[in-house]
Amino acid sequence: MNNENNNTLKSFEELGISGQLLKATLAAGYTDPKPIQEQAIPAQLEGRDILGVAQTGSGKTAAFALPILSKIIALGSKRKPKTTRALVLVPTRELAVQIDETFRLLAKGAHISTALVLGGVSRFSQVKKIQPGVDVIIATPGRLMDLVKARDVYLSDTTWLVLDEADRMLDMGFINDVKRIAKETHAARQTALFSATMPAEIEQLAQSLLRAPVRVEVAPQSTTAAEITQSVVLARTKQKRQILSKMLADPDMSSVIVFSRTKHGADRITRDLERDGFEAAVIHGNKSQNARQKALNGFKDGTVRILVATDIAARGIDVPGISHVVNFDLPDEAESYVHRIGRTGRNGASGVAVTLCDPSENSKLRTVERIIRMKLPVSADHLGEADPQREPRAPGQPAAANDDAQPRGARSPQQRKPNGGKPNGGRPKWKADGDRPAGDRAHSDKPAGAKPDGRKPFRGKRRGFGGKRAPARAA
Ligand code: AMP
Repeated sequence: MNNENNNTLKSFEELGISGQLLKATLAAGYTDPKPIQEQAIPAQLEGRDILGVAQTGSGKTAAFALPILSKIIALGSKRKPKTTRALVLVPTRELAVQIDETFRLLAKGAHISTALVLGGVSRFSQVKKIQPGVDVIIATPGRLMDLVKARDVYLSDTTWLVLDEADRMLDMGFINDVKRIAKETHAARQTALFSATMPAEIEQLAQSLLRAPVRVEVAPQSTTAAEITQSVVLARTKQKRQILSKMLADPDMSSVIVFSRTKHGADRITRDLERDGFEAAVIHGNKSQNARQKALNGFKDGTVRILVATDIAARGIDVPGISHVVNFDLPDEAESYVHRIGRTGRNGASGVAVTLCDPSENSKLRTVERIIRMKLPVSADHLGEADPQREPRAPGQPAAANDDAQPRGARSPQQRKPNGGKPNGGRPKWKADGDRPAGDRAHSDKPAGAKPDGRKPFRGKRRGFGGKRAPARAA
């Protein structure tokens, strides 16, 4: 068997997956284990705890689902009312739905019952589903805590606990619920904790919940998928709408997520896009679960080309074939940048991530660059005058002496793809000369001239976009 990700030749069978589970795994198209699966599956089958640092799209769901299913199938179904044998805790409802789908896909033909426990939807149907007892619950912490308190579910028989996207649960303020829930589970449980990043709080949580865990790591922390071509467009906030619409006129942008920092902003972007003649769906925390799922389903099945989202969709969402990620603004948490752009370039496919950056967001941009250990090239065609220090390097051109932002051994997007992989030298079509948005020169020291809407042109200094270099590499 051929494994595209490393040089080992292990099959799922050799990892210890057999019988109906193996059949279903192969039928799902998982012919070769991914590195995270190869590392994590045998250890879990031996009963070991796992601490997994895994990049988005690494295949970590099957890495914990397969050993859990394997053990449940081997033990036979012994469900007690209102209990579950395995519990997967996740930060967002969308991720929970996705994990449930994977469990059901891999458990096809085996008699495994799964239940989703999430906020935002009727709790009645969830309680009813758990009433006879289930094999696996996939839950967000808040709603599960409610059911535990109401004694609609007992976790004392739960012998497998998975915490997925642990860093995100920390960000979302779920950590205390997670700790309380873990206390309710069986004392001799097996635990797996997965996190894209490992901040100190997560290391501490891991120490308190895991016993002599096997640490599995498939990519360095906070690196971005190698196949994603990233760039920054320097744009005043007021110009972003126009630039976005110009970008979206490019038919190459076949499936696009536009990220907004705020819910209100996401709604406004969606409205503006609709006014500009685009059809877009929006997903954020103030939308009902049904509306969120509907938007996501439309995006997944291709009926919706543009999905506008807050960071709620930055992690976990696995939609194959997303061609572009546009960061309409920079996220508050620099780590979210990594997760946002990880929506494209999944499963080895190539992808493009463009970030629109107002001068007021410059420090956030620098933090992002520090975290990804790489300086993001500026799409110079969007500038009246590009910051020369930020100009993309030509293929083969060595990094500047003080360019500390390239990751070790990494290639710049230009080096990765000669001419950016495009006949026009890698320039996205919306940036063709003469096709610039009216406000495109706004960062030039020279005023761009009167604007069509009568607004005053920007005449200030290029504060923030000039001179300063990105700080030295953080790690
Ligand atoms: P995850 O990181 O679990 O969200 O998985 C990312 C994507 O990889 C999903 O679309 C999975 O269906 C897919 N996937 C996971 N494991 C494998 C595998 N062994 N072979 C092929 N595809 C896989």
